[in-house]
Formats: sequence, C-alpha cells, structure tokens
Amino acid sequence: MADDTRRIGIMGGTFDPIHHGHLVAASEVANRFALDEVVFVPTGEPWQKAEVAVSPAEDRYLMTVIATASNPQFHVSRVDIDRDGPTYTVDTLRDLRAEYGPKAQLFFITGADALQKMLSWKDTDLMFEMAHFIGVTRPGFALSDDHLPADTVSLVQVPAMAISSTDCRARVAMGKPVWYLVPDGVVQYIAKRRLYK
Ligand code: ATP
Ligand code: MG
Repeated sequence: MADDTRRIGIMGGTFDPIHHGHLVAASEVANRFALDEVVFVPTGEPWQKAEVAVSPAEDRYLMTVIATASNPQFHVSRVDIDRDGPTYTVDTLRDLRAEYGPKAQLFFITGADALQKMLSWKDTDLMFEMAHFIGVTRPGFALSDDHLPADTVSLVQVPAMAISSTDCRARVAMGKPVWYLVPDGVVQYIAKRRLYK
C-alpha cells in the first residue's frame, strides 16, 4: 500500500470529451510537482454549463478512463458523478480528502480560463485551505493570479495545446476529424456511441 503522505494532483473537468490538452497539463504538472498520482474527476452536473447540453456522465467517465488507462500515475474518480446536484470543487476536495486521508497533499490543477473565474466558485476560502492550486497556461487565455490570495496558487507553463472540447464536439458534428486531438480510443468511443452528432 502506498503511504498516506502522497502528493495527489486533481484534474477536474467536464471531459466532454477528454483531449490531449487535459492530458499534457496533468502529465506536466505531475512531473514539475513530483506528484505520486493525478486523479481525473469528471463533473456531475457542471453548474457553469447549466445552459449547455452535456453528454451523459457515464459516457464522459468512460472516455476519461479510456484516455488515462495506459498511464500508471493517472486515475479516475467517480466522486462528482456519483454525488447528486451540481458539482462544486469544494465538495470534490472534501470527498477526495476523505478518501486519501488527512496527510495527503492535494494539488488542484486548473487551466488559465478556469483560473480567471475562480473567485466566482463556491466557498473559495475553504477550497484554498484544502488544496494548493496550480494554474496552467492555455492558448488564448492570460494566466494570472493577481485576483487570488497570495501563496494559494502556483502558475505553470505547459506545452501549448490549442484544443478545446467545444471545438472537438463541433468537429464531430461537422464530420471533421478529431484524430490526434483526443486519444485514439476516445475517437472510437465517440463513433461507437454516436456522440456529438
Ligand atoms: P469546454 O470547451 O467544453 O469547456 P474544455 O476544453 O475547456 O471544454 P474542460 O473539461 O472544460 O475542457 O476543462 C477541464 C480543465 O482543463 C479546466 O481547468 C481547463 O481550463 C483545462 N483545460 C482544458 N483544455 C486545456 C488546454 N488545451 N490546455 C490547458 N488546460 C486546459
Ligand atoms: Mg472548459
């Protein structure tokens, strides 16, 4: 059994679908912060996306499992999809803290776009107590922690991947390829389940 002082990265997202931007960010942060593992946490109902049609949680969960299966450091958690109601990061952190124990160090990874909006999230003070936050670069968004309390966030440059799930969905809807934007198994899963048509 691994010891309980592990360094755990947490990558929350809708993952509709998961793409190489998510995977590169997680891999880069795992290396830079000497993380023991990264847990990908697909959202239940994303409260910021209440107006947008989101694929069923089980499809998003399975695509995340397929995309991460070959990396021994990567895991997927069901905490958010198994909890009723909208997903708030503060609840994600509370559940993962209970799972990994009081001594685990939690690092919540978030792209520059999400970091810009972070103060609008629920219970941010509590969130900052429960985890260290890592903001990563994302093409098209400025990475800044000026609006956030000192020492709560680290900023990390990751290889630039101009990929978004929104663009992947639009490509599938138009019959354009998503090969090399998402892992091969995810391309096949999207076709098999006829997602985004
Ligand atoms: P959508 O277009 O549906 O919002 P998305 O591509 O933004 O999808 P999300 O599931 O919303 O993906 O993002 C999950 C997390 O991954 C967020 O913190 C987001 O900022 C980050 N992220 C997404 N794409 C990238 C990327 N290309 N580079 C760096 N970080 C990214
Ligand atoms: Mg997004």
